[in-house]
Amino acid sequence: MKDLSTRLIHHPYKPPEGFEAVAPGVHKASTVFFPNVQALRTYDWKDKSGYTYGLHGTPTTFTLEERIATIEGGKHCVLVPSGLSAVTLVDMAFLRSGDEVLIPDNAYGPGKSFAAVELAAWGITHRYFDAMDPDDLARQLSPATRLVWLEAPGSITLEFPDIPALVARVQQANQARAGQRPIVTVLDNTWGAGVAFNAFDLGVDISMQALTKYPSGGADVLMGSVVTRDESLHRQVLLTHMRLGLAVAANDAELVLRNLPTMALRYEAQDTAARELAQWMQAQPGVVKVLHPALPDSPGHATWKRDATAAACLFSAVFDPSIPQSRIDAFCDSLKLFRLGWSWAGPISLCAPYDMASIRTRAWPHTGGLVRFAVGLESVHDLRADLAQALGALQA
Ligand SMILES: *Cc1c(COP(=O)(O)O)cnc(C)c1O
Repeated sequence: MKDLSTRLIHHPYKPPEGFEAVAPGVHKASTVFFPNVQALRTYDWKDKSGYTYGLHGTPTTFTLEERIATIEGGKHCVLVPSGLSAVTLVDMAFLRSGDEVLIPDNAYGPGKSFAAVELAAWGITHRYFDAMDPDDLARQLSPATRLVWLEAPGSITLEFPDIPALVARVQQANQARAGQRPIVTVLDNTWGAGVAFNAFDLGVDISMQALTKYPSGGADVLMGSVVTRDESLHRQVLLTHMRLGLAVAANDAELVLRNLPTMALRYEAQDTAARELAQWMQAQPGVVKVLHPALPDSPGHATWKRDATAAACLFSAVFDPSIPQSRIDAFCDSLKLFRLGWSWAGPISLCAPYDMASIRTRAWPHTGGLVRFAVGLESVHDLRADLAQALGALQA
């Protein structure tokens, strides 16, 4: 198989007869015409082998689905209007009243909120587990568990979990209750993006992504994906997706398709820059810990080294507990190139302070403030200088 950077550019898209160009076409439709009544009666919206209605796909969205599924090493892809809607789609596709979902304590926050408020209102319970302890996952599994979320690494704190070991605990539970609805595993693969590792080779059933991050890369599109290898899991996701009426706009799909060819290069550039800055940050006064899977003392470093070939643009710095939050806020406000804002993997570097006490339900080993950095595509030299000038604000 060719390298990812090549596969991102050479792909099976078929342009219209007589018109070959670099970019795939952009097709827009609500209405799609049928050639005759017989076709109108027999084309089935549940079967994506043909076009029936804009909501169920166009040549543009089918092309993007093929691209994302292939990049991630999966077979099928369903597109949704945001990363968060990909999380909620998976929850709704696999959970019914009386079921339970397990979520890592360090998972993406809004997915936890969805479980705590919306799923709870439908009689679906949730429990948190420590993603760094597969035995804790095994302990939290109950006869009601139907879905287990995974995320690598954890949001904000970037601990890299042992996905094969976590999946193995779920598979053991499934063997012990043969004949019942099996527990499905789903990985939030936004960080890996199909670049850093192959989620399916690590054993997960479903890989969900915020295409908002790396595949878009422009900080100007919101989109999500749900990728599967298994036909029946795909069908379950697809039917819930269609019943919910979710669709993505052609111009948004176009923006993601346009930025995919540079994804491997962007990932690599931001990886290199983030490692360099994370290492530098670790040596600065007032910084007690830097979290980044490639740093040897970051949680899960050995697992990351075993299972991944790259790391995304994120690192977090934990400050000395003697530094008040107001000084940490002043540091963030002093940064000129790192802008304050959510999301990541775009061209501009970002940072945001987090209050870990309000995020975690389980023990967090640090009491100092935390700032997460997302490295963009600026010069590392300039970004380091920006951090250096702003660190002065910590001491003032
Ligand atoms: C950003 C993000 C999401 C949500 O994506 P949106 O498109 O912003 O809704 C989900 N999971 C992770 C890990 C993310 O970073």
